[in-house]
Amino acid sequence: MAEIQLRNVGKRWGSFVGVQNFDLTIADREFLVLLGPSGCGKTTTMRMIAGLEDVTDGDILIDGQVVNDLEPKDRDVAMVFQSYALYPNMNVYENIRFPLKVRKVPEGEHDDRVRRASAMVELDDFLHRKPSELSGGQRQRVALARAIVREPNVFLMDEPLSNLDAKLRVSTRAQIKNLSHELAVTTIYVTHDQIEAMTLADRVVVMKHGVVQQVGSPTEIYDAPANTFVASFIGSPAMNLIDGKIENGTFAAQHTRIEGLALPDGPVTLGFRAEDASLSDSGQITAPIYTLELLGDATMISVRIGGALVSVKADKSFRAEIDDMVTISVPPEICHLFEAGSGERIG
Ligand code: ATP
Repeated sequence: MAEIQLRNVGKRWGSFVGVQNFDLTIADREFLVLLGPSGCGKTTTMRMIAGLEDVTDGDILIDGQVVNDLEPKDRDVAMVFQSYALYPNMNVYENIRFPLKVRKVPEGEHDDRVRRASAMVELDDFLHRKPSELSGGQRQRVALARAIVREPNVFLMDEPLSNLDAKLRVSTRAQIKNLSHELAVTTIYVTHDQIEAMTLADRVVVMKHGVVQQVGSPTEIYDAPANTFVASFIGSPAMNLIDGKIENGTFAAQHTRIEGLALPDGPVTLGFRAEDASLSDSGQITAPIYTLELLGDATMISVRIGGALVSVKADKSFRAEIDDMVTISVPPEICHLFEAGSGERIG
């Protein structure tokens, strides 16, 4: 059982604010993903939970107990980093066993626990190899097994897939998802990859400049992004965003007229997703094609509106040339609306 509470947690170094007012309860067994661009404070948040970084404001509680002053070793959390830091002179078996020795777990339990952990990450056949005789993916799995073997209450994972190639990343991602389900341990996972976040998380926390932008399930964040930052960070491609203005219920921008929006007159940012729009004979955007990308299962068409690139997913059989005119259907019900200045969601 491990519920983690962050109560208005902050981290400052002198006048520089790394993390601000982080306030969230992470449920027992939840898989929480911290997502955001480089430098947004993900790792710092994680390190504060692990006890590797002091908290400057607020409190961190594990199962109702304030742990601000507890040493990392007394927090019962296991951390997996992007650089897996295995001991080069020890074989896989000894690397996985190491945390049990450090924690003075009775010797009699070691073999059983090492074998169980290594089986979970499918390393049974590699126990006698040295790290130098393993692939990157296998090394990362040793690091995972070394965390699993401790049977901690909390798993903290900081970009554990970032050193793997694209294919291995996908298969290891699936393995982590399966493991977290099997182990039923509270997991906090840091990434800047929105696909990892969407596929792994029960809930995602999107961060920017040390400030939480939105907390929600992947579906909630995808369907109703709280602001233009979240909208442009989630989804592949990112949400189309067009700056324009509302006049008598009609959104107007270059090449664009969308009627039927119940908003007061004034500037707004309008968003919609490429997969929600379609090419059509009559539509709300008419513009020359800027690029075409063949994706295999579809063709992505992009046009330029003002400074923005706006994409729509077309059928894979769609054929056209750059500069051909296309018309895109953007019915008002697929539109997201954001305040022009702040970027906050308004509809
Ligand atoms: P990345 O994805 O690049 O790892 P991140 O979101 O994990 O980024 P953090 O490592 O948490 O970001 O860093 C947050 C901010 O705090 C950054 O601007 C970083 O430069 C700053 N920072 C981190 N450690 C220190 C430190 N010891 N002293 C001063 N500033 C720091």
